Amino acid sequence: MSTPQALQLSPENSFSIQSDCQAFYSPSSIEQLTSIAPLLDEPFYVLGAGTNTLFVDESTPTIIHPDFHGINANDCGDHVLVTGQCAENWHQFVQFCLANGYYGIENLALIPGSIGAAPVQNIGAYGVELADVLDSVTWYEFSAQTLHRFSNSECQFGYRDSIFKRELFGKGLIVSVTLKLTKYWQPTLSYQGLAELGEQATPEQVFQQVVDLRRSKLPDPEQLANAGSFFKNPVVDQDKFSHLQQNYPDMPFYPQPTGKYKLAAGWLIDQCGLKGFRQGKVGVHQHQALVLVNYGQASGQDIYRLAQHVQQLVRQKFAISLEPEVRLLTSHGLIELAEIKN
Ligand code: NAP
Repeated sequence: MSTPQALQLSPENSFSIQSDCQAFYSPSSIEQLTSIAPLLDEPFYVLGAGTNTLFVDESTPTIIHPDFHGINANDCGDHVLVTGQCAENWHQFVQFCLANGYYGIENLALIPGSIGAAPVQNIGAYGVELADVLDSVTWYEFSAQTLHRFSNSECQFGYRDSIFKRELFGKGLIVSVTLKLTKYWQPTLSYQGLAELGEQATPEQVFQQVVDLRRSKLPDPEQLANAGSFFKNPVVDQDKFSHLQQNYPDMPFYPQPTGKYKLAAGWLIDQCGLKGFRQGKVGVHQHQALVLVNYGQASGQDIYRLAQHVQQLVRQKFAISLEPEVRLLTSHGLIELAEIKN
């Protein structure tokens, strides 16, 4: 269905923020993509399951919500190439792969969202990220009205980052994603909560442990509206790290191959006394400080101001500027989180 229609978007985002869009397209074939290509206003925004976007204003630009479905697998001997169309649910895709003996994405169980959104921010959890298993992405370019195939390296993956967020943003959309999964599996157990399973753990056990861990720590958006981790974990250089460690010897840190140090944004926020902090209709989740929640009827501006407040307190205490992982969509397009001037 590719007819434009004005729409109220609160069911379309896990923050449950009310916002209107003037035109909403949900193409389900290449022919439909081609038919809407000449009609698109600038800017338009591609929305998957709406689990990583904050509608900041009362209206949004034109929304394209692709509706391509289907999964197929191609057995290549020791590995399997599994292709999911963009609108398939990510967690159900993980379950499908596990049930069929295609291994490698158990640690990514229960991440909310669609398959098409997964490469955009290179989803990651419990020591595995999509880039570790991705074979290729099929991407539709509106101006040329053609499909392109991107190999893993052409996707230019980084920490919660890819070419689809940068150079290709606003130019097209991901139609399908192909993963290279294995039949001969080695568990990734480096994270707390998984290590205790031991090297003999089965893929099913790792999958279940990740599901249990996430359910115990993270609020279900169906019960309490949220978009998962709101901020990215900051990565700091050696000097900054040494200075912080002198002042905060208990601070968790993770050395990176680049010689830098990843810090836990949730810990920094917690140290500012913000875990469980409530500001009107919005707040910082009481068990996971990285998650901002809508207690009901909040506006996008309410969440945005809370995010600014969190960012300001962390900056004052640690001289670190947290960056949102969630994408901030105004009526004019995406924006950065503006710092509050002290
Ligand atoms: P946690 O165990 O409390 O750890 C806090 C942070 O420290 C994590 O974000 C993780 O960074 C990092 N970390 C922990 N152990 C690490 C290790 N052995 N090596 C390198 N880095 C390590 O984390 P949590 O908040 O419960 O989250 C657990 C996992 O689920 C994390 O991987 C997190 O990214 C993921 N998660 C993602 C979302 C989302 O919306 N994207 C939401 C919730 C949780 P990384 O984030 O870089 O892994």
